[in-house]
Amino acid sequence: VIRAQTQTSPGYVPDSKFYKVEAILRPWRVPQVSSALLKMGIRGVTVSDVRGFGAQGGSTERQGGSEFSEDKFVAKIKMEIVVSKDQVEAVIDKIIREARTGEIGDGKIFLVPVSDVIRVRTGERGEQAERMAGGRADTSVPA
Ligand code: ATP
Ligand code: GLN
Repeated sequence: VIRAQTQTSPGYVPDSKFYKVEAILRPWRVPQVSSALLKMGIRGVTVSDVRGFGAQGGSTERQGGSEFSEDKFVAKIKMEIVVSKDQVEAVIDKIIREARTGEIGDGKIFLVPVSDVIRVRTGERGEQAERMAGGRADTSVPA
């Protein structure tokens, strides 16, 4: 049985103050994921409609023929969430808990170190730019 559980970042993850958690998920699970993130004080999220193939799209395709054809791509949502280092594992854990069905096609999460954050409105950089109103600094709820 595969269980979703919080882990610490493995040693091969480059050290950074900020990371982008990039999750490719089933579209119908995204509202559940985003409201859970909001509840833990994660307010900055970007989503895009994407299409892709993994084990889910690929298995259908292999039965059909040798070439990938575009109509075999499966609709997914990409969520991109930039957070500070100490929030990464909690965010990953939350996404898994809310997005997982256990069936092929649940998606994948990529963790990307982010060098800097710049808020366009103010020109702030780093921690000040990454911090969100209503986020961790404004609530007593641990992120
Ligand atoms: P401001 O206070 O100037 O509004 P802000 O930090 O609230 O700054 P916005 O300008 O509201 O940022 O953000 C614009 C868009 O940037 C958001 O709609 C969202 O798509 C994206 N975004 C902002 N912060 C993050 C983040 N931490 N992770 C992922 N996407 C983000
Ligand atoms: N780290 C930010 C905060 O605690 C939240 C980041 C985000 O919402 N993506 O305010």
